[in-house]
Parts: sequence; C-alpha cells; structure tokens
Amino acid sequence: MKVILLGLCLTIGCTALACQQQPDQERMQDQPQMGTASLQAATADSARDGRLHKTEEEWRAQLTEMQYYVTRQAGTERAFTGAYWDHKEDGVYNCVCCGQHLFDSKTKFKSGTGWPSFYEAVTAPAITEKADNSHFMLRIEVLCSRCDAHLGHVFPDGPEPTGLRYCINSASLDFEARGEMQSDHKEGG
Ligand SMILES: [Zn+2]
Repeated sequence: MKVILLGLCLTIGCTALACQQQPDQERMQDQPQMGTASLQAATADSARDGRLHKTEEEWRAQLTEMQYYVTRQAGTERAFTGAYWDHKEDGVYNCVCCGQHLFDSKTKFKSGTGWPSFYEAVTAPAITEKADNSHFMLRIEVLCSRCDAHLGHVFPDGPEPTGLRYCINSASLDFEARGEMQSDHKEGG
C-alpha cells in the first residue's frame, strides 16, 4: 500500500513540475522588474493572456486580511475556523480573488481535517500544482491558474474515484449556490 501511495506521490509530483514549467516561463516574461510603471502595465494588460494580474496594493484593497494572508502569502487558516469546512450547500466554490470556478460541491467530502476537502477540481486547467518543500515536508501546493492565488495542497489519500484530497482554505473560496449561478454555464442548459 505504501509503495502505491509513494508511486502516486511521485506521479503527482512529476505532473506538478511539468505543469509548473510553462507558467513560470510566462511569469518571467511578464514580470521582469516590478517597478510601479511595469506593475501598472501588467494590470492593464491582464486580460490579454486570460490571466489576472493585480498589484499587491490592489489585492490588499480587495481582500480581507485573512484572504490576503492565505491567497497572496501562501498562508493557512486554522483548522475548523473557516467558513466552508462544514458547509454542505449545493453549488460551486470560486476563487475569492478572481472568481474562477474551482471546485464543485458534488466533489466535496467530509475529511475530518477542519478544512474544505474535495476529491477533484471542477476542471483540470483551473488549478496549477507546484511542489512545496516548506515546513520540512514535500507537499503539492495548489493555486488558481488564473490569478495564482494559493488555495491549499493536494494529497494522495482522498476517496474514490480519484484517490486525491484537495485540502483547501475557506479563505481562498467564494461559494456560489447552484440556483444563483449567473455565469458562463447558462447556455445550453
Ligand atoms: Zn483566481
């Protein structure tokens, strides 16, 4: 069993590294030196590549202190303190920073950890995975692919059908009830 988990870990790690390469290259091109002028230019150009770039000042103005700490400084809220760890309504969890759909309540499960837990993202491209060696652990960090908000981590000990556990901070999420969804998914429905 341990061998299988380790294998899965390595697979996820490799996938994360592979996925990470391209955004890193883009980031290096997009943000050479962060003078005020280039920051403003980056913000103005944010729609160009489908990604959302904002200055630290803009994020601070938009977010609460906890949301800023978690999403922009890769912080972690205390277990059992967030809004959604025990939240059971039907709908979608969006990125609190940019509104991108991240997780569906249908994939949420009770993990007992005190953080909202999902076994899969709403679409694979919504999430960027990245190796995280902090705190003397090898973990896979998950971020919003559109605005790079830190969301949490993914572990290989989740339930079927994926066997994955996306352990996400409530502070990174904004819940949208199914009936109230006004977005892009209306057409054809
Ligand atoms: Zn986002």
